[in-house]
Amino acid sequence: MNKEIEILREEIDKIDNQILANILKRLDLVKSIHKIKQDNSELIIDIDRELKIINQLISQIDNNTSKNIIKRIYNIIFQEVKEISYSKHPEVIAELNIQLDSKKLIIAGPCSVENELQINDLAEKISNIGIKFLRGGIYKARTNPNSFQGLRKAGLQMFFEAARNNNLFTVSEFLDIEQAKSYFEYFDIIMIGSRNMTNFEFLRKMGRLTAETGKPIILKRGYASTIDELVSASEYIRSEGNSNIVLCLRGIRTFEETAGYYRFPPDLHSLIELRDKTNLPIIFDPSHSAGKTEIVPNVAKAAIDIGFNGIIIEVHDDAKNAMSDGMQAINSHMLAEIYNYINLKK
Ligand code: PEP
Ligand code: MN
Repeated sequence: MNKEIEILREEIDKIDNQILANILKRLDLVKSIHKIKQDNSELIIDIDRELKIINQLISQIDNNTSKNIIKRIYNIIFQEVKEISYSKHPEVIAELNIQLDSKKLIIAGPCSVENELQINDLAEKISNIGIKFLRGGIYKARTNPNSFQGLRKAGLQMFFEAARNNNLFTVSEFLDIEQAKSYFEYFDIIMIGSRNMTNFEFLRKMGRLTAETGKPIILKRGYASTIDELVSASEYIRSEGNSNIVLCLRGIRTFEETAGYYRFPPDLHSLIELRDKTNLPIIFDPSHSAGKTEIVPNVAKAAIDIGFNGIIIEVHDDAKNAMSDGMQAINSHMLAEIYNYINLKK
């Protein structure tokens, strides 16, 4: 081999060993910090600190390409480190299972988290009703790229705090594995939305990411997916090690003449077939199915009456000005009425 290359490679090997030793040392230090945070029930993730570290490092570099390389490397380091430290979530799993078993699960909240005032107000009202699970879109999967895409990173902390200040668990969707790895801790239950149900590599990765903690995943039925395909999709997650999966139906597209009346006509009968094919709990989303505020409560009640394990429902107290799905939002009074209906049932 070329002598010059050999010398350079020797130098690289030396540096790699130093990098390895330093990465392992760094990992140990970070784990010690995480342990202290966990003992104090604090969030492991600290977005501001990550940003500070990256900015400090790249400020020492002139070249833009190198800046980007360092940014990418550090984002990977941050993600991997967090994955190692995620703790189990016994409380959320226990509460979820109790409510699913009694077929009274209600997950309620806005389609999208919009601002602190909105989410704090709703979280308080929802908690006062007696509900334990707060939904709120942060990363929104919208059909049109010009529609509101969610507050994204800016919404994470406000959603989490609104929930915790009101003793609620958080339920929300990640659209890709990078978001999920980076912000895993913010959501107690992760939703995989209709548009991602057939993204099998994503399902696999989510299964792997949640295998250790068993963090529950709500898997929504895809727009054009059959019942068998929904069950198969859940197998992608389960086969990677997480069986805490809840299936969610949200109506279907059909030739049915009622198609104009509903947004996605409620296929409540699909429950019978699904129960034959899977032991997983199954909930219904009356909001995206009904698509109109006035008919959401009846669809919600019908879903419970027919035997679903629960519902996930969109709520907004200023629906006219909602940033997404206002036309199908119920208000908090309607939610209280549905809660009473479900909980007074024998
Ligand atoms: C949602 O529940 O916020 C949502 C976007 O639903 P779906 O994936 O069913 O369209
Ligand atoms: Mn919605």
